[in-house]
Amino acid sequence: MPILRQIAQLGQPVLREAARPVADPTDPTLHAFIDDLLVTMADADGVGIAAPQVYESLAMFIVASRPNPRYPHAPAMEPLVMINPEIVRLSADTETGWEGCLSVPGLRGLVPRSRQVTVRYLDRFGAVHEESFAGFVARIVQHEYDHIRGFVFLDRVPSTRDLVTEKEYLRLLSPHSAAGRHNGR
Ligand SMILES: [Zn+2]
Repeated sequence: MPILRQIAQLGQPVLREAARPVADPTDPTLHAFIDDLLVTMADADGVGIAAPQVYESLAMFIVASRPNPRYPHAPAMEPLVMINPEIVRLSADTETGWEGCLSVPGLRGLVPRSRQVTVRYLDRFGAVHEESFAGFVARIVQHEYDHIRGFVFLDRVPSTRDLVTEKEYLRLLSPHSAAGRHNGR
C-alpha cells in the first residue's frame, strides 16, 4: 500500500541540495516510492512533485497536470514519471505565469519560463525518452527540474512584488474579478 509522505517545507536543507541520480530505475523499492509520490501529490492537489520534496534527494519527479482546486485551469494528462531527467532544450521565448509549490504553502508568484522545453529522461523500466512540452506542462517540467537542482520558484520570481498570498491569488482567478481576466491562470 502506498503511504502519504511528509512534504518538506521551505527551510529544509533537502530542498536546497542537488539530488543524486537514480542508480536503477527498475528497482522495486523505487517503484514503491513512485507510488508514494503519486498519492502524496494527489492528496495535496499538486500538478507535480519532485523526490526531494518528500526528503528523498533523488533526481526524479512526476509531472501530472490536471484541473484541481489549486490549478482550476490546468490541462489534464496522465502522470508522467521522469527519472534522471535532463533538459536538453529550452525555447528562447518565455511566458510569465503563476506558480505555487507544495513546499512553499500559502504563496503564489509570477515566474517567467520558456514556453517549450525538451527533456530526456528514463521511465521506470529504464527506457530512454526524449519529449517536448509546451505551455503549462512545460512550466511544470521546469519547476520540478529546479527542485532536483536545489532551486524553488521563489528564486525565479523577478520581484517580491510578483508574490501574492494563495487567498489573493484565488481572488484574482475569480471570473468576477477584473484582475483575473487579465492575469490568466
Ligand atoms: Zn515545487
